[in-house]
Amino acid sequence: MSSSRFTITSRSPQDPKSVVCEVDATSPETVSKFATTAAHVGLSWGADSAAQLRADALVASSIALESASEYLANLMVEEVGKPINEARAELARAVSFARYFAQQPLADAGTVYRALSVASATSFSVRRPAGVAGLITPWNFPVLIPIWKIFPALAYGNGVLWKPSEEATCIALALSKLLSDHLPEGLLSVLPGGADTGRAVLEQADVLSFTGSVEVGHLIIGSAKGRHIPVQAELGGLSATIVMPDADPASAARMLAGGAFGYAGQRCTSTRRIITVGHSKAFIEALVAETRALNIGDPADESVAIGPVINRMAKDRVHDAVRRAKAEGGRVLNQTNPIPDGEGWFTPCFLVDGVDPGHFLAQEEVFGPVCAVMSAKDFPEAVDIANSTRYGLAAAVITSDQGVVAQAIEKLDAGMIRINAPTSGADPHVPFTGVRCSAYGPPELGSGVQDFYTKLRTITTHPPLACA
Ligand code: NAD
Repeated sequence: MSSSRFTITSRSPQDPKSVVCEVDATSPETVSKFATTAAHVGLSWGADSAAQLRADALVASSIALESASEYLANLMVEEVGKPINEARAELARAVSFARYFAQQPLADAGTVYRALSVASATSFSVRRPAGVAGLITPWNFPVLIPIWKIFPALAYGNGVLWKPSEEATCIALALSKLLSDHLPEGLLSVLPGGADTGRAVLEQADVLSFTGSVEVGHLIIGSAKGRHIPVQAELGGLSATIVMPDADPASAARMLAGGAFGYAGQRCTSTRRIITVGHSKAFIEALVAETRALNIGDPADESVAIGPVINRMAKDRVHDAVRRAKAEGGRVLNQTNPIPDGEGWFTPCFLVDGVDPGHFLAQEEVFGPVCAVMSAKDFPEAVDIANSTRYGLAAAVITSDQGVVAQAIEKLDAGMIRINAPTSGADPHVPFTGVRCSAYGPPELGSGVQDFYTKLRTITTHPPLACA
């Protein structure tokens, strides 16, 4: 991908000479114009009396999304190099998330409170749409993450300005077109562009939801706070999985190879640190074998587990990280997998041991197929290592010991704790969140997002005053 002041060029990571799309970046003036329209159209869309209309339109949009799934999955393969099986799975989940939020216009909109002092007084709360929701999204889940922001924002009555990642511009244009066909004109606007367009969205939004890196997130959070608007940010991760001595080596290794290297380690919740309690030779050997067996190649091929990383910068970052780790005592455990010839941004997977928990590989998100393997003498030490970074998105433990499970739930400091499961995963009705630098503001997903996308009002009514 490259962007000048006016043009975004999105390229295929497996074939960087191939331009997937080229469009003008949205200027701040245009963002401002779309914001005015979204606010205006949002007035009737967000009215209490339009709840059924909103539900109907969102159901129609979710049906359109389902019908276009195969088309969007293929576009995802082409534009962001996601292996076709994963792309299809992302679309299936996006449809289920859309269906869940399509019902939310009919959810309870407030609370009735007991009268305390005046028996005949009634107090209640109502929730009104926040106004215009600004949504800024990354490239790695180019359909699912936009859907899990756009649908609740619309369901609770807002207009939407959506700034997608430059790397996923073509998917964003296709997705927004198929949703917009079922919505009032001007309610949802997709605004291709880079940082300038993102900043302009932030300037116009009444509420801002961001997913992306910690570094950009900090800027966004600071600006949103400066404008006194609610902000929600889901950011980077360095998720750890603790493997207890009672874990079955073969099944733990299979799950972790997929969790660390699936989609070339480009999920925010990819497992980036594996911490074994004690040294399990059988587990390490199985992990190396499972990693070696992952097939790297053309993401359009159904037998391929791992495609390319997103761009040259990402590939360089992975190789620099491995070089640096090796220079500082790290050791690549696996014989690296063969990668396709040609100019695509393919890289092997790297399992690296011999780095201490303070090493940058165990402290910073490389966002590619690199995973640090460490060991701890006991479970408390493993928890200390897992908690010892600035990130706190997901953490997992593999064990059948219920005492360890209870301790993990209490002691692991992460937004999402998973037992005997990969660190990745999300459900529409379960809050998705992180702690420390991995998130800011209220969680995404679940019915609680209504609070984020709406303003609360409390109302107290008394009986009419008697004539004097
Ligand atoms: P990024 O932070 O580079 O970009 C995210 C979005 O912000 C893009 O749309 C980008 O154009 C926009 N942007 C960049 N600079 C901006 C600015 N100054 N003002 C406004 N907008 C700006 O992230 P990315 O490379 O697209 O995605 C990868 C990152 O996202 C990783 O760190 C990953 O962990 C994180 N991520 C987190 C989650 C989560 O739910 N926690 C999910 C997916 C990805």
